[in-house]
Amino acid sequence: MREKIVIAIDGYSGCGKSTTAKRVAKEIGYSYLDTGAMYRAVTLYFLDKHVNISDNLLVEKRLSEISIGFRFNEKTLKSEIFLNGIKVEKEIRSMEISNAVSAVSALPVVRTKMVDLQKRIGEKGGVVMDGRDIGTTVFPDAELKVFMTADVKARAHRRQKELMKMGEVLSVEEIAENLESRDLMDTTRKESPLRQAEDAHVIDTTSLTIDNQVQAVINLYERVIK
Ligand code: C5P
Repeated sequence: MREKIVIAIDGYSGCGKSTTAKRVAKEIGYSYLDTGAMYRAVTLYFLDKHVNISDNLLVEKRLSEISIGFRFNEKTLKSEIFLNGIKVEKEIRSMEISNAVSAVSALPVVRTKMVDLQKRIGEKGGVVMDGRDIGTTVFPDAELKVFMTADVKARAHRRQKELMKMGEVLSVEEIAENLESRDLMDTTRKESPLRQAEDAHVIDTTSLTIDNQVQAVINLYERVIK
């Protein structure tokens, strides 16, 4: 067993994967990679440039112009995403991006570029990554795999609070619709669809608090590294 492992957290939209992964990483001294943020940043760029995503040549051209990086903000103690050198942490969380991201993330060329980058970032271990295909495609040999699921209503209520903090007021129904349509697109796409890896530990977060979720992953981690 390597001294520092890879923890892959996959699952449906809005189950609390990112919040959990971030906290777990902090508590065990690992870095955290939000792979969803990478697909969101590509989507932001494509929307900005009015890219018709059915035009493969244009998609490839625009994709080649994109550089994605993460920087640790010493003030907020949070890692932030940069698209071509510009911080886009807030912009990528809007509902406009949430509605467009699953179609963009289903494009094979987009996935190839993001997966390569994710593999490079995580190759040395010591990282908690959350996404949809981490335990199946990006790190199929990850030492610890978690699959998160939760009732869609519970997920929508939580997401509503998060969006409210950012000044976006949306109904629970509207958010639930977005979560369900993303789940559908993510599970049915051809290229590395969202699915539970055979060796993943399932955590249903419907009635768990964030503290419970974090503890559940840390308990699994401690079992693995022993
Ligand atoms: O995690 P988050 O909800 O921010 O992800 C946004 C979208 O990015 C997902 O709905 C999915 O379409 C895509 N995604 C993906 N593979 C990942 C992470 C996210 O396809 N590893």
